[in-house]
Amino acid sequence: MSLFQNATYVASAHRLEDLPPPREAEIAFAGRSNAGKSSAINALANRTRLAFVSKTPGRTQTINLFRLAGGGILADLPGYGYAKVPEPLRRHWEDTLSGYLQTRTSLCGLALVMDARHPLTERDEIMLEWLRPTGRPIHVLLTKADKLSRSDAAATLQRVRRRLRELGSGYTAQLFSSPHRSGVEEAEGVFAGWLAAPAGASAKPANWNKKAPGQRGKPGAKRLKLD
Ligand code: GDP
Repeated sequence: MSLFQNATYVASAHRLEDLPPPREAEIAFAGRSNAGKSSAINALANRTRLAFVSKTPGRTQTINLFRLAGGGILADLPGYGYAKVPEPLRRHWEDTLSGYLQTRTSLCGLALVMDARHPLTERDEIMLEWLRPTGRPIHVLLTKADKLSRSDAAATLQRVRRRLRELGSGYTAQLFSSPHRSGVEEAEGVFAGWLAAPAGASAKPANWNKKAPGQRGKPGAKRLKLD
């Protein structure tokens, strides 16, 4: 049985305080609104509606948690970068996403979904740069690869991998197509590896939670600015 098959819904959280305690290894899915995150989760789960595929980007505004049949949690994070979200809600989600990524101790890796036709947007770069100090691995799913020619898809993959190499080790990327279900096995292999790693294997550098020079407030409380 595949990794995400028979996943069951656990909870939705609008605020960090509403999340269940971090008891099991958790893989989070993030990405720009409309990049294809929900479709990718559904393709991985081999279901049509595990993650709600909205025709209105920016609608899904909760962190949705699913328990995997073999153990572990999938956290579907709200999409970012949707211009029509009212300012107060956008600020709330910037704070919530940044708080989640910085403080969720059970987070064992981030699946970052990008549209293969427009990868590495400014906001994607912010997410990459931002998660880096936590030492967690990131796997980029370049979705909608079916909309590119084979050679354009290969060139995009190379470009994204080159950028990830600049950021350090632990960052990987692959092509993905939800309707064709291509890339499912490769992605599962990566995520299964994260879940199987002993707790703390994605250990953070010793100073990851220290205040940056000039940073005010709680350590690690820096705000994620996505717009
Ligand atoms: P989300 O906002 O990131 O969750 O994006 P969705 O999963 O809702 O997808 C946005 C739109 O892109 C929908 O119309 C999907 O049918 C379409 N889509 C998503 N993934 C793919 C893909 O791999 N290939 C193609 N051709 N369309 C896709």
